[in-house]
Amino acid sequence: KGPDPDLVGIAERMSTVKHKILILSGKGGVGKSTFSAQLSFALAGMDHQVGLMDIDICGPSMPKMLGLEGHEIHQSNLGWSPVYVEDNLGVMSIGFMLPNPDDAVVWRGPRKNALIKQFLKDVYWGEIDYLVVDAPPGTSDEHISIVQYLQETGIDGAIIVTTPQEVSLIDVRKEVSFCKKVGVPVLGVVENMSGLSQPLKDVKFMSSSIDVTEAVIALIRKNSPELLDVVVCSDVFDSSGGGAERMCREMGVPFLGKVPLDPQLCKAAEQGKSCFEDNKCSVSAAALKSIIQKV
Ligand code: ADP
Repeated sequence: KGPDPDLVGIAERMSTVKHKILILSGKGGVGKSTFSAQLSFALAGMDHQVGLMDIDICGPSMPKMLGLEGHEIHQSNLGWSPVYVEDNLGVMSIGFMLPNPDDAVVWRGPRKNALIKQFLKDVYWGEIDYLVVDAPPGTSDEHISIVQYLQETGIDGAIIVTTPQEVSLIDVRKEVSFCKKVGVPVLGVVENMSGLSQPLKDVKFMSSSIDVTEAVIALIRKNSPELLDVVVCSDVFDSSGGGAERMCREMGVPFLGKVPLDPQLCKAAEQGKSCFEDNKCSVSAAALKSIIQKV
C-alpha cells in the first residue's frame, strides 16, 4: 500500500509553513480563542507572516474575535483563500462558511475530520512563518485528527490555556498527558483570568446599590490625581492550591505566565481588535506580550 495521498497533499501544503502552534484548553470559556487571536495579532505586529486556523467546528469564534463577521472564503486556482485581517494575517474558520452565524453545526466526528483534512490540504497560505491552530476544548476527534494529519510535517508545540482554579487545572493535566501521548511538545501553560486588574479610573464604586463613582473619582482627582492610574487587582478565582504555576512544576512543563481578567481585553475581543493597538488594555497587553516573548 502506497502513502496516503491526503497526507502527501497536506505535507506539500505545509511545506511553506515554518512553525505550527496548537492552542489547547481543558475547558471552554477559559480564554483560549482570545489568546489565539491576540497571539496572532502580536506575531503579525512583529512583521511575521501569520495564518490562524480555527478548528473549533462547533463553536467557531475567530470571525468575531478578528472583526471578520460576514466575510466569505473564496476559491482561487491555488486553493481556498483565507480571509485577511491585515496583509500578513490570514484566517480560516468554518464560521466563514455558515450562512447564518447562529446556525448550529451538528456534525459527527468523521465529518469534522474531513473538514480539518480539507482545511489542511486545500487552504493556500503561501509562505508563512506561523500557523496558529485554535482547537476546541478538551481532547476529542478534532485533536486526534490534527495531530495525525500533521504527523508528516510535525507540530512545533502546544500552548495550553487555563484559569487558576483546580477544576480547570484537572483538565489541563489531561491536555498535558494527551500531548505526551501523541508526541506534541508542550510549549507551556498560560493562566488566564488570573485575578481582575484595572486602572482605578475604570473601577465602579457602589454604596448601598447606588453608583457613587463620579463623586469618588472627583474626590481622588482633587486630592491625589496620580492615584487614578494605579492598577487595582483582586483575586476572583481560588488559586490557593498554587494555580497553574505549581501544576506546571509538578508536571515538568513550562509555565508561561498569568493574564488578568481585564474588562478592556474583553472589549477588544468583542470588537475584533488587537489589544496591542492602543493603550487601553495596558495591563493585559503587557502580560500577553511577556508571555509571547517566551514562546
Ligand atoms: P474559550 O476559547 O476558551 O472558549 P474565549 O476566548 O471565547 O474562551 O473567552 C470567553 C470570554 O471571556 C470572551 O468573551 C472573552 O472576550 C473573555 N475573556 C477571555 N480572557 C479574558 C481576560 N483575560 N479578560 C477579560 N475577558 C476575557
